[in-house]
Amino acid sequence: MGWLSGFAVTLRQIRRGKVTERFPFEKRPKPARFHGRHVLNRYEDGMEKCIGCELCAGVCPAQCIYVRGADNPPDAPVSPGERYGFVYEINYLRCIHCDLCVEACPTEAITETKLFEFSFSNREDAIYTKEELLVDDDGRARRQPWELWLGGEDDDTSAWMRATAPSGQAVYEGRVGWSGELGFGVRAPEIGQSVEEAKDEEAKDERGGQGS
Ligand code: SF4
Ligand code: SF4
Repeated sequence: MGWLSGFAVTLRQIRRGKVTERFPFEKRPKPARFHGRHVLNRYEDGMEKCIGCELCAGVCPAQCIYVRGADNPPDAPVSPGERYGFVYEINYLRCIHCDLCVEACPTEAITETKLFEFSFSNREDAIYTKEELLVDDDGRARRQPWELWLGGEDDDTSAWMRATAPSGQAVYEGRVGWSGELGFGVRAPEIGQSVEEAKDEEAKDERGGQGS
């Protein structure tokens, strides 16, 4: 009668319905802090956030970022700082999406979107230039022909993904620690770190303060 239990397994599976996705027409939701392809962000007034400091290139373990800074033209500054990112390239044949460049950036200029559905057939396309990485005049990622963006996926381009708590402590949950972005304004804080964890951290801080 073993064959009967075999049929029972089949019947159970039929009732469960399909579990496959209709990719590429639909995508599964991604985690809030998913690391995809980068964008270079701009302030709400349109100025570029990158100041050409090269910290992202210095910290990158795959050495796939190439930045050249230049002095801002006094009459038509590109960024609010003294300098701006004159050349900016990321080689996606090497990038491991570790996000260290995002963490290192002092101005939240470089962030990662959730897009990972992109492929290329030549090296030129794989090396994203500043023109391809810089968000457009609406603050959206510039969609490349070899990328698969669906619906409003290009809303998720922001630094808010990197951390609600700049120090990693849950006590900072809900506090905004980042600047506004072109097309989006100041992003709302991410929810998710537990209240209990925040209380623990607060108590730890208080104990530390008393001891000093
Ligand atoms: S995500 Fe990591 S590997 Fe990719 S460019 Fe940034 S630092 Fe380099
Ligand atoms: S993206 Fe950020 S870390 Fe990299 S050069 Fe620009 S300002 Fe500096």
